[in-house]
Amino acid sequence: MKYSIFSLFLLYGFLVSESHEDKIQSIYGMQSFAINCNVDKSRYEYLNDLANDPSFDFIKIPSLSTCQSNVTMDVLVPAQVVKMFKKELRKRNISFDVCSEDISNEIHARKRRDIDVSRRIQRLPSVFFENYRSYQEMKEYCKVTIPNLNPAAKYVKIGTSLERRTIFGVKFTTDENARRPMILLDAGIHAREWISHMTALYIISQLAKLENRHIYDEIDIVIIPNLNPDGYEYSRQKPENRLWRKNRSSAVKKCRGVDLNRNFDTHWTSGIGSSDDPCAQTYKGKKAFSEPESRALSDFMKENKDRIKIYVTVHSYGNYFMYPWLYMFGAHWNYKLMDCIAHEAHDALHKVRGTTYKIGPSGKTLHVVSAASVDYAAEKMGIDIAYVLELPAGPPEHKFHPKTSEIRLVGRETFAAFKTLAPYALKKGPCVDGTSKHLPKSSKKKT
Ligand SMILES: [Zn+2]
Repeated sequence: MKYSIFSLFLLYGFLVSESHEDKIQSIYGMQSFAINCNVDKSRYEYLNDLANDPSFDFIKIPSLSTCQSNVTMDVLVPAQVVKMFKKELRKRNISFDVCSEDISNEIHARKRRDIDVSRRIQRLPSVFFENYRSYQEMKEYCKVTIPNLNPAAKYVKIGTSLERRTIFGVKFTTDENARRPMILLDAGIHAREWISHMTALYIISQLAKLENRHIYDEIDIVIIPNLNPDGYEYSRQKPENRLWRKNRSSAVKKCRGVDLNRNFDTHWTSGIGSSDDPCAQTYKGKKAFSEPESRALSDFMKENKDRIKIYVTVHSYGNYFMYPWLYMFGAHWNYKLMDCIAHEAHDALHKVRGTTYKIGPSGKTLHVVSAASVDYAAEKMGIDIAYVLELPAGPPEHKFHPKTSEIRLVGRETFAAFKTLAPYALKKGPCVDGTSKHLPKSSKKKT
């Protein structure tokens, strides 16, 4: 570690919360930075080195080639080192904005506001999307509310988390015995990305409407809205935990949690974009599939290996619509089709309220990371259409927490994109029949 000045400082400042095994950075006085990463190589490397230090929480680390003028590297900096951090950035002539002077204020304010919303809407019908929901509320919604609305919607159990919570999904099928092509969508593998859980649930709510039944006339759709229920509940427990990302593994005494999206058996040993340090936000675990949550998803994929034609994993934030590979800069062999479908889906999304996403292979669009679920789906399961969605951020001062009024809006536009993807499970649509304007000229159908 070249820049150990911070590590030494933090060694003594690292705050211990709850128990020795449960060290987390204190959110009090923690500042949120958006750093202009459009800098030369040496300054970029300086920032990248800091990102490997578990004392900092680098939320968004674009690779150097994707760091254009409007792209920022986002990081949460603990109170103890804020002053020194600013000094070091200024010394190196790296420009930055402080998005929040004390993120704990934002987190507390949001919590108070969300409780108020809950009180107001308690007695109103169809209020599910008025607020972020607990694991238990999500489960009831998928187990009782949705199947009652539409018998084609079935509650399915995918696996069990470390703390014995059921990892569940909703399967839309009009013929359970037919082994039809399938679309698999999951969300919430990262605990703090709350808008992703709610968006998956919103898609479930729309698919349950009878007018949308045609979408799964000939295919099955499985949506898993909360892949990391233990981490999610922990992030809801109290404001101090709001920024928790990993699961709640206690396999290593020093620090808890494994980043489930660095734990899949695909280029796990490479370690690019992941960490061996159990205290890091991107800790990859002791071995590939050491965690029951990542194993549960993999088992489900294996059981349905010949059927899953499209896989989508929903994260937040940053407005990215990406496809493999994540572990390297190159694109998957099917990138032309994936790129075309993503553009078609994006057109539909954009029409809803003008939101725009960046589209492309992850390495060239945002970053390179190893052992992620989408690479596993594409490489090991042979799913040739696979996407990572990074949903829109909340306000600059607390980007993981879009206002509750945004839940429906993000849901609506994401569902528009999802509907566009669906026919491709049956190899239907303008990107396949050659009529899409997004196809490269050479692949377009001649008329
Ligand atoms: Zn994520």
